[in-house]
Amino acid sequence: MGRVVVVGSYNVGFWVVGPSLPAPGQTVLGHTFGTGPGGKGSNQAIGLRRLGAEVMFVVKLGNDAFAVDARELFRREGLLGAGVLEADTHTGAGLILVDDSGANVIAVAPGANARLSPADLDALPGLFEGASHLLCQLECPAELFAAAAARARAEGVTTVLNPAPARALDDSTLRLVDLLTPNQTELAVLAGRPADDDAGIEAAARSLLDRGVGRVLVTLGERGALLVPPEGTSSFGARSVRAVDTTGAGDAFNAGLVAGLADGLPLEDAVELGLRAGAFCVTRLGVVDGLPTMEQLREEVPA
Ligand code: ADP
Repeated sequence: MGRVVVVGSYNVGFWVVGPSLPAPGQTVLGHTFGTGPGGKGSNQAIGLRRLGAEVMFVVKLGNDAFAVDARELFRREGLLGAGVLEADTHTGAGLILVDDSGANVIAVAPGANARLSPADLDALPGLFEGASHLLCQLECPAELFAAAAARARAEGVTTVLNPAPARALDDSTLRLVDLLTPNQTELAVLAGRPADDDAGIEAAARSLLDRGVGRVLVTLGERGALLVPPEGTSSFGARSVRAVDTTGAGDAFNAGLVAGLADGLPLEDAVELGLRAGAFCVTRLGVVDGLPTMEQLREEVPA
């Protein structure tokens, strides 16, 4: 199995589950509270490890008690290493509201994540040694992604970008992406055009290929995923499960996808592993409990 470099975020999460999501100015009484680790980088790195990938995780924590918890988590999951850095600020934090149908809204204060810089990557000379894939998200600065991906390209490493949360990227950055994995909303932001129906989704994905992305793999929630390479388009159906919390489905999907790719699976088979991991995730409350091991996948969402 190839080694995966994940450059990304860690956020401590605080969530409340209630009957409905509050409108602006409104307070809703929830029935369940939880706190625990999150951040797309951390979730995807943990997801990869649980599926058997070797992972180098580059992340920046703050100087508070939340960072102590994060280090303990990374130690347990096999992620504590030279890439876990510290900044003189607070650890990233996320507030998550979930309603009884599983829909969610999220706000994030990046803290230390915003301090992770290209210079930090330069200080890790052997970063891509033995690596087959780089996996990034957009909770850290876009310049950081561009620096990591430029170095990955120079070292023959394949770059997968899960562009979440979405923001517009310039063409020179998009050209560094071998495989882009937006959900439908992120696709519309990146392409700068609506992606509401099947024709719109494919057209938006093709516009990103025209701007230099290698392939686009759009995740469509319970409708599965659509792979748009330069030639032809393939549709993948989602696994049928009972959803209780869709938070983190994209993280589990990306972990499954890249674990498969790093294991040498053809892209279509790696997408299937992503779909299984994404389906597993939505059957659990919270994200980290929703990141499956290979054994859990075999039992609960068999191939
Ligand atoms: P994000 O969480 O980033 O918004 P999606 O909602 O598209 O991403 O979900 C990512 C993947 O997780 C989907 O492509 C699908 O494979 C899986 N998934 C999400 N929701 C469900 C669901 N209700 N049932 C089965 N699989 C799901």
